[in-house]
Amino acid sequence: MSTVADLVLVNGDVVSMDPLRPRVRAVAIAGGRIMATGADDAMLSLAGPHTRVIDLGGRMVLPGFQDAHIHLQDGGLDLAQNAALWDVRSIEALQAVLARHAAAFDGPFIIGCGWQPGVFTAENLTRHVLDAVISDRPCLVYDSGYHNACLNSKGCEMAGIVAGTPDPPNGHFVRDAAGVPTGMLNEDAIYHARDRLPEPTEEDYAAGVLAGQAHCNRNGITGVLDAMVRERHVRVYQRLADAGRLTLRVASTAVISPDEPLSTALGRIRSLRHEARHPHFKVHSAKFFLDGVLENRTAAMIEPYADGEGGNAPLMFGDNAVRDLFVAFDAERFQIHVHAIGDAAVRGALDGLEAARAINGPWPSLHQIAHVQVTDPADFGRFGALGAMANMQPLWARHEPDIPDRTMAMVGVERARNVYAFRSLIDAGAPFCLSSDWPVSTLNPFEIIETALTRQPPRRVHGDVEPFFPEQRLTREECLAGYTVNAAVACWRAGETGSLAPGKSADLIVLDRDILACDVHDIGGTVVLLTLFEGREVWRDPSFAR
Ligand SMILES: [Zn+2]
Repeated sequence: MSTVADLVLVNGDVVSMDPLRPRVRAVAIAGGRIMATGADDAMLSLAGPHTRVIDLGGRMVLPGFQDAHIHLQDGGLDLAQNAALWDVRSIEALQAVLARHAAAFDGPFIIGCGWQPGVFTAENLTRHVLDAVISDRPCLVYDSGYHNACLNSKGCEMAGIVAGTPDPPNGHFVRDAAGVPTGMLNEDAIYHARDRLPEPTEEDYAAGVLAGQAHCNRNGITGVLDAMVRERHVRVYQRLADAGRLTLRVASTAVISPDEPLSTALGRIRSLRHEARHPHFKVHSAKFFLDGVLENRTAAMIEPYADGEGGNAPLMFGDNAVRDLFVAFDAERFQIHVHAIGDAAVRGALDGLEAARAINGPWPSLHQIAHVQVTDPADFGRFGALGAMANMQPLWARHEPDIPDRTMAMVGVERARNVYAFRSLIDAGAPFCLSSDWPVSTLNPFEIIETALTRQPPRRVHGDVEPFFPEQRLTREECLAGYTVNAAVACWRAGETGSLAPGKSADLIVLDRDILACDVHDIGGTVVLLTLFEGREVWRDPSFAR
């Protein structure tokens, strides 16, 4: 390593997450790595005649944040070219947004994303609503969680979805009284339709990644774990990585479907891992959806839903299949990444991981159980015992008219305390990291941290809403760890990232406020002034003068 710094940041409040020098004033960077951290004069003594020096004006510096459960490529495509429906609250508004989008976009397939399941339902959203504004091309609109979507009549016709079409495995076509599909698709029925409709090109997806990563960098994110990749995602990421166009690190988890035989799945994921071997991109993990979501009654609960309307769902993989798959993937040294919403899915995941550990022995796998919406208290302590990480999305742990309030009736009063019980999990020893699941909801880590600390929606927008089980709040220090050191561990790159320690990559952010000291209700408004990735500026806020 060079003895002269390329860049020195001075006069800052550097929270390094490095236990040896946790809080310093200055950072010296050489060759894209942290050369040293310490006092201003000590770091300036590493400068030469060509070294750039940035005066931070006392501002807070943190390691770049890492989002360990995000859908960067697919969300990026939505950001770059699909109609945004997140803020739409009526059928008329939905139609207006889609009509405007269709008039401006001449692609063969109109896609919208983000309708709210509390506002739109199988009763009021059907293909006829979409047909009224788009009838010449297929049009598919996803809900905010991507577990439900509605397809217009042209799309149903092209995908061959008619009265006689049987439901696919783990999916459902909503039908009218005569048995004719209404266009509303649940879970894997969406993939059934997508497989039969025009695909965006890989150029489109590459443009989506670039849009998504710029959005990440602006929000202080320099590393992600893409929580669901298939062959196309891997090709697109690998190409961008080879061309030197990634401005963040992408770790990824390749999805396994329940109908894929174990040996085929293992061979397929092994070759994806082998193909993806760039310092900025890797496949290290296998993804299993053990259930769906409460909103459409596909979450798997140990006891039946409390609202007496039936529902509840079996695991998407049978118990034995989970065990066999986890044992096999763990033996091949893949990280296992599980989607688990209901307490039966969480338990099924823990049982599978326990079997893997019993047979293969312990190793630093850092298997992930993502979402953990409902966890039975008997299982809190098992995360720590098994070294399984709780991958949490704290933004969802607050009262909102749609989610989670609508789902609380299904959980019922007895189990309400087990919903997003993050404090209980951590206190019971669960390793953890924080993430967004973007584009399901915002990726802004500061908005997410504010809710993790308050269990409320932002006060400056929504007023003083009753906190959602406030005893489950996290601390500021836990939130920082959850987005830096812990997230780095979750993404299997703790040797390279997660703290500002000498030798690690110079991935760091400069903030406009001290999030360890400011009013908790101001954290969500934090502005990222500067983002460095490998010592390179990948975002600078216009307010932060050169
Ligand atoms: Zn997800």
